[in-house]
Amino acid sequence: MRCFSCDNLSIKPVCDDCIKDFLTPEMIKKEVGNLEVISFFDYYLTVEFIKSKYTTSGYRVYKFLAQKFIAPFIRAYLEGIKSTPLYLIGVDEDISRGYSNVAQMVHFGSLKSDVKALHNVLRAKNRVKYAGESLEFRLNNPRNFIYKGPKGIDAILIDDTVTTGTTLEQAHRVLKESGVNVHFALTLANAKEGMDY
Ligand SMILES: [Zn+2]
Repeated sequence: MRCFSCDNLSIKPVCDDCIKDFLTPEMIKKEVGNLEVISFFDYYLTVEFIKSKYTTSGYRVYKFLAQKFIAPFIRAYLEGIKSTPLYLIGVDEDISRGYSNVAQMVHFGSLKSDVKALHNVLRAKNRVKYAGESLEFRLNNPRNFIYKGPKGIDAILIDDTVTTGTTLEQAHRVLKESGVNVHFALTLANAKEGMDY
């Protein structure tokens, strides 16, 4: 196959040169309410990978990113806390494009560890586009999340990007109401507020 980024022949979806050039984890931290959000990359340096979710390539790109970065991070975290069971919950696994990039992150991020993938349990009733909108707009147009998963569990929240953190904060609130203890949220990218994504 070819590298998603440079189009050179590569066995992996992203070649080693492109991994080295574009995918060095920075582990950016952000506080949203009382939720810690940890992101692997700066959004602007990895935008072509993040935006692959709008294309069919995203299916293999997100699988690759989850296996390469999310799964090892979760395994290391689990070793440190030794408190299982721990679940991965994706923020609104929307399959309207034929697959969900968030579901890819949850599924492949949970492989080879004791963490359990909980699919499709946290859905947004309101899918209004936040791209390029202000914090005020985001607050005035809440996602209205519904949680249908097990109560009283420990979990890590998974999404592709954090911008203002409004979405994750809303998701966190709904989970807390169901007695879900969210250890932190994990996203691939961190984008500065107010930017278009
Ligand atoms: Zn490449």
